[in-house]
Amino acid sequence: MSEQSRVAIVTGAARGIGAATARRLAADGLAVAVVDLDESAAKSTVDAIVAAGGRGLAVGADVSDRAQVQAAVERVAAELGAPGVLVNNAGVLRDNLLFKMTDADWETVMGVHLRGAFLFTQAAQKYMVEQRWGRIVNLSSTSALGNRGQANYAAAKAGLQGFTKTLAIELGPFGITANAVAPGFIATDMTAATAARIGVSFEDFQKHVAEEIPVRRIGRPEDVAHTVSFLASEGASFVSGQVVYVAGGPKD
Ligand code: NAD
Repeated sequence: MSEQSRVAIVTGAARGIGAATARRLAADGLAVAVVDLDESAAKSTVDAIVAAGGRGLAVGADVSDRAQVQAAVERVAAELGAPGVLVNNAGVLRDNLLFKMTDADWETVMGVHLRGAFLFTQAAQKYMVEQRWGRIVNLSSTSALGNRGQANYAAAKAGLQGFTKTLAIELGPFGITANAVAPGFIATDMTAATAARIGVSFEDFQKHVAEEIPVRRIGRPEDVAHTVSFLASEGASFVSGQVVYVAGGPKD
């Protein structure tokens, strides 16, 4: 099957990295389901895809809710076709130092990143196994290596790496690859909110961070989208269970 007839699902794709990834996969020729909490917010990404000549579908779903995830995947299969590519990108931050972190901070982050990826993958793999073809890409982070104020997020992003490697082992025999992309600092609403929380302008924050990055710039959503595009491509069938750091320099 060519990229022209593949169907992709990108979660958390109303904005940021997810939106850039959805637009990129559509430009690659895939039909793309744009999933986000709010269907009308997802519609803006679909409008951009359609304006560029692609095919898209806006789907409202909370990735941490099993019934909503099941319904979303079934709707994609019915309206766009059986999903072959899944990008688990939806994410939230609830940063706090450990001694101040609440149960809700912990549960919310685990629910969206880990449970969300688990539920979406479980629902979508059925269609991939039937096709004997699939590409799963999970959004990890350099924070998986440890980051002050992010005990919950670091645990979730490290957890996603173990989840990814296990998917690669279990689903490999069915022609399905699973990889993780671990971005460093990418300019999005998420990092803008972090700058606001610590009380510096987003511009100063970006400048300061860029000085510490070997390539001397911060990342763009398109940098991540480009890597996901490769991992989702037909030619990437022998790359599985990997964590690709997209961080402008090496990470452990
Ligand atoms: P963002 O906050 O700009 O976008 C996240 C999107 O996810 C939003 O549209 C939001 O509505 C959606 N979302 C949140 N909870 C959801 C839920 N329960 N169900 C459905 N959708 C939900 O974030 P971003 O910077 O684009 O990050 C995208 C992914 O990349 C996240 O997983 C994030 O952890 C990861 N990441 C980001 C960076 C960075 O520097 N921006 C670095 C490493 C990893």
